[in-house]
Amino acid sequence: MSKKGLLLVISGPSGVGKGTVCGEYLKLHPECSLSVSATTRSPREGEVDGVNYHFLTQEDFKERIAQDGFLEHAIFCENYYGTPKDAVMKMLDEGKDVILEIEVQGALQVRSHYPEGVFIFVLPPSMEELENRLRGRGTETEEVIAKRLDRAKAEFKFIEKYNYVLTNDTVENAVERLGAIVNAEKCLLSRNYSYVKDEFIK
Ligand code: 5GP
Repeated sequence: MSKKGLLLVISGPSGVGKGTVCGEYLKLHPECSLSVSATTRSPREGEVDGVNYHFLTQEDFKERIAQDGFLEHAIFCENYYGTPKDAVMKMLDEGKDVILEIEVQGALQVRSHYPEGVFIFVLPPSMEELENRLRGRGTETEEVIAKRLDRAKAEFKFIEKYNYVLTNDTVENAVERLGAIVNAEKCLLSRNYSYVKDEFIK
């Protein structure tokens, strides 16, 4: 049917569990890959360069912006983050689905260049639960947590730019809903029209 992979752009506030949902989805769906972003923030404990992120200096990051190496890039809590363009386009062309787990400014840039992407916003069950999850992670200082909560409130205002909301009540439910979204998107007539036309209408 449709040969090109789906670009799944997944945003949501820091601490909502996007990474866990995407990780579990990827385990069940080998046809889908996660884009590894570049960032200027320092690695957290256990993070590996080239696996979780490509950790770059500001200088290197700016050079890659100048070379048009990013599909999108944004500043989040004083650090640069960006999606390597060539790697993502190659995977889509090979028919693989690709997940971009990115914040809203970047998602809006992707939407303007690549409107056929599927834009999904992950919600916590409540604001209180989001705060609990951010604290429970135990990797950030109070100052960083406060900044990320402020940023979360600002991000919710962009929700109308997305096609779907995905509440992360339990990871299992969220992964199942993500699968349902992907299946529905793959059945859209607009994504299959040229095949349907060639095969059945002529
Ligand atoms: P963290 O520092 O917690 O790993 O990520 C902070 C925020 O940056 C998260 O909302 C994450 O989704 C977002 N992010 C990660 N990679 C990218 C990227 O390549 N581009 C953009 N715009 N945001 C990203």
